[in-house]
Amino acid sequence: MEKPLKYILAEHKLNLKKAFGQNFLTDENLLCEIVEKAGIKDSDTVLEIGVGAGALTRQLAKCAKRVVGYEIDNRLKLVLNETLFGFHNVEIVFKDVMKETISDLEKSLGGEYKIVANLPYYITTPIVMNFLENAKNLTAMAIMVQEEVAARFSAIPASSDYGAITVAINLRGGAKTILKVPREKFTPVPNVDSAVVKIDIEKDKFAGADLKAVRDCVRAGFSSRRKMLVNNLINGLQLTRVQAETALNQAGVPITARGETLSALDFVKLSESVKAVRNG
Ligand code: SAM
Repeated sequence: MEKPLKYILAEHKLNLKKAFGQNFLTDENLLCEIVEKAGIKDSDTVLEIGVGAGALTRQLAKCAKRVVGYEIDNRLKLVLNETLFGFHNVEIVFKDVMKETISDLEKSLGGEYKIVANLPYYITTPIVMNFLENAKNLTAMAIMVQEEVAARFSAIPASSDYGAITVAINLRGGAKTILKVPREKFTPVPNVDSAVVKIDIEKDKFAGADLKAVRDCVRAGFSSRRKMLVNNLINGLQLTRVQAETALNQAGVPITARGETLSALDFVKLSESVKAVRNG
């Protein structure tokens, strides 16, 4: 039987670092549930960001074909040598994942892959945005995030949680909360509850759309939530008022709309009409 993680951590007398978001999971049942709800199969390659003491890694390794894990904190090497002993399908890279490009990461992962991670909260948004914008072979992400962030990821248009990141997700697929995790499940206990969100990437969603132009539109549309969309477009995309109003009309969006009422599809149409009015 595997030695419980809390004993391994105690033996190594490791001071967990808040700056690295080191709130570890130790409950084996919960870890198994995460892997099961993430839908990991024995043909999957999994990228885990922030392996910590390897608790989630161990469960992933039992179900997946291959697990590649990133960890910034070298002090965890000795712990991981112990927790991951005998798992020959796991490779750990001791490096700041933020310093890797997605294309280099994808080269080393080979083909299609899934991300499963109990993410350090301070890098959740940049990591998710980077993968949504640049990943080519990613098929799904199951990530532990703060509960309020989970609400933002799966929000519906016009709700207070809906924002640029919701649209970024909906441009590539869709998100749903698959598990709620109370704060007491972590060591040390953080100040907030968490949830695991699954983002499924739909191959070829909005195929043919110029996603870079759509993202520019989304960025402009959400640049000031207090302002009407037309004013954000004028400022953010350097359009004249006539051009901005014409683009909205052509996209079927009311002139008085605010950015947070538009779906991903609305933003795709709007970016096309912005392009059309610019080309005269
Ligand atoms: N996966 C473990 C678990 O579920 O118990 C640990 C999760 S803990 C919330 C986040 C982990 O990410 C920590 O071990 C931390 O050292 C690591 N980490 C933080 N920033 C990182 C970065 N930029 N690159 C790679 N790992 C990072």
